Amino acid sequence: MRFAVLGSGSKGNALVVQGGGVTVLVDAGFSPRELKRRMQALDLALTDLRALVVTHGHSDHVKGARALAGALGIPTFATDGTRRFCARFGALHNHEPVLPGEPFTIGGLTVQALATSHDAAGSVCFVVDDGDERLGVCTDLGEPSDEIARGLAECRALLLEHNHDLEMLRSGPYPMHLKRRIASARGHLSNEQGAALLSAVRRPQLSRVLLGHLSEVNNTPALALAAARPELDGADVELACAPQHHPTGWLRVQRERKSGAALAARLVATAPVAQPTASAPAPPLRTGQHRALEAQLALFATKAQSTRSTR
Ligand SMILES: [Zn+2]
Ligand SMILES: [Zn+2]
Repeated sequence: MRFAVLGSGSKGNALVVQGGGVTVLVDAGFSPRELKRRMQALDLALTDLRALVVTHGHSDHVKGARALAGALGIPTFATDGTRRFCARFGALHNHEPVLPGEPFTIGGLTVQALATSHDAAGSVCFVVDDGDERLGVCTDLGEPSDEIARGLAECRALLLEHNHDLEMLRSGPYPMHLKRRIASARGHLSNEQGAALLSAVRRPQLSRVLLGHLSEVNNTPALALAAARPELDGADVELACAPQHHPTGWLRVQRERKSGAALAARLVATAPVAQPTASAPAPPLRTGQHRALEAQLALFATKAQSTRSTR
């Protein structure tokens, strides 16, 4: 099984996964024209898609869903909550109902939805299984849950939300109501929460982690990577941030493991991404500092609670 992120973030989300004899699009948060353009970079045509799978009804995930499924005549797998959410601005085409916890199949792929607390009715994330390997596609989570952690535990590859740095969000330009929404249990995972979830789901078979849905205003790739990397504890896991504005190349869910010597050489050759320098942004606050800050401001109380509960 292989996959590619076509884009990840508040300006649009889509991921293409290929395995079990089918090619499936998870979310269609770009126009069909833009999806076509990004898929061409992977030598794919829109007509290669067998099905569309939708996590939730926010426009950065469904912008092109209706037009795409209508034009291609392919099914749109989504929860009933998502179907109703989308009906307000145009019904989904060829809706196939999805229930969290009840796997469904597309060709040789088995897909399981996991409910999230994100603020769109029926919001879920997905685990895609080709019988050998599992890929977790989990952004817009609201807050981590035991159910999500259990569902992701067997994955070999993850797209995992690291939306914001709490301090950048706190001191950034967003209006207070938006800050509260993002930091709430129905918003997005902070770097710290994403890293805590990564720590909870990490198993020896984990091979590849892409950090996703990074805010361009309230986060930096360096901060997200600096939060996640310690949770991998030196394991041979490829860690990177998913881009917003262009697709990744094809990525195998099970990447080739480096031999010990090759790994050592790679570690020496790879410049550390998030070493603090005089000009670099401040490193993320540690948990204790987070709590002091939150207590002081009484702003992110819900967020802090959810972070503690996963630690
Ligand atoms: Zn989103
Ligand atoms: Zn969303």
